[in-house]
Amino acid sequence: MPKNYNISVIKGDGIGVEIVDQAIKVLGAVGKKFDINFDYKEYLMGGCAIDATGNPLPQETIDGVLNSDACLFGAIGGPKWDNLDRELRPESGLLRFRKEMGVFANLRPATVYDELVDASSLKPEVIKGVDIMVVRELIGGIYFGEPKGKTETKGWNTMVYTVEEIERIAHVAFKLAMKRDKRVCSIDKANVLDVSQLWRDTTERIAKEYPEVELTHMYVDNCAMQLIANPRQFDVILTGNIFGDILSDEASMLSGSIGLLPSASTGLKTAVYEPIHGSAPDIAGLGIANPIATIASASMMLRYSLDEEDAADAIDAAIKKTMADGYRTGDLAAYDCKEQVNCTQMGDIIASNI
Ligand code: NAD
Repeated sequence: MPKNYNISVIKGDGIGVEIVDQAIKVLGAVGKKFDINFDYKEYLMGGCAIDATGNPLPQETIDGVLNSDACLFGAIGGPKWDNLDRELRPESGLLRFRKEMGVFANLRPATVYDELVDASSLKPEVIKGVDIMVVRELIGGIYFGEPKGKTETKGWNTMVYTVEEIERIAHVAFKLAMKRDKRVCSIDKANVLDVSQLWRDTTERIAKEYPEVELTHMYVDNCAMQLIANPRQFDVILTGNIFGDILSDEASMLSGSIGLLPSASTGLKTAVYEPIHGSAPDIAGLGIANPIATIASASMMLRYSLDEEDAADAIDAAIKKTMADGYRTGDLAAYDCKEQVNCTQMGDIIASNI
């Protein structure tokens, strides 16, 4: 009997549709090989949901995702909806979605494929072998803190973290480090911010439960420099919401293309797997988007939500082989490219390499 998983799918806007279709294709290939069946149910979110229902995050989507084993997500947003009131915009739906799902931990690997060391803006000798996991707190901090507000002459937001919020994200980082190189670097601004001092004190206390893991601390401004100067020094980076937002985008550029990098958002109720990039309106509909970030997100879904390690390894190996064979979408066509392919072809090749 094949194992069966219920997967909620949110394709979203722009390139979301085409990249998620490729991930589903690759999951089909891996399902055949490992006797796994995926039942997909599609839900609306973002601009397409606004067009269809007037609401960027319909209740049906929240319920459907909460009732699934995991959610595969594309991207949302686009210029068509940019002029709506902030509360009605696709991005507000995304923030509310993360909160509703309780996904407090955002995992973003930043790894560099050997074949693509030239794609990075840094020197090959600086980035070769980089393998970083950024663990970002996702539903607290300044993006959600109260009070917040704006008048004609003043605007304000509040960075708040409770001990419980810091503890649970710290545990995620330490547990991941145990499976990796056993090093956590916690990022804060404890020289200026009280909330960061609490962050530092709490991570120190949690570290005592993981004696094999080395904990270091770094100020966020220094970390921004160190990621460029010597990225190989990092194993797991543990950070709050806004610092993680910025640092994980910076870390992602080490690999050369935003189209390569997956993410997992896990937490209290379910988990959401998505590429780190947005809906790329500038190339939407052209069929040239790089689907690898989304396919790698499907691999993370197998690994972290479904416990299908072998199937996840098979996807990662198929992506690596495709890179090594020299197939590239347009974003990476300048680097060691033997054949330039479009989004669908890239999905076909990775699926056939499973
Ligand atoms: P973006 O990530 O969509 O695009 C930035 C640049 O990277 C563009 O030039 C784009 O063509 C390129 N790019 C992105 N993904 C690619 C891929 N898979 N293959 C090849 N090239 C790729 O960021 P943006 O332009 O700042 O935002 C566009 C829209 O996406 C906005 O509405 C934004 O709010 C939204 N957004 C959504 C999410 C999400 O759904 N999680 C995340 C970020 C941005």
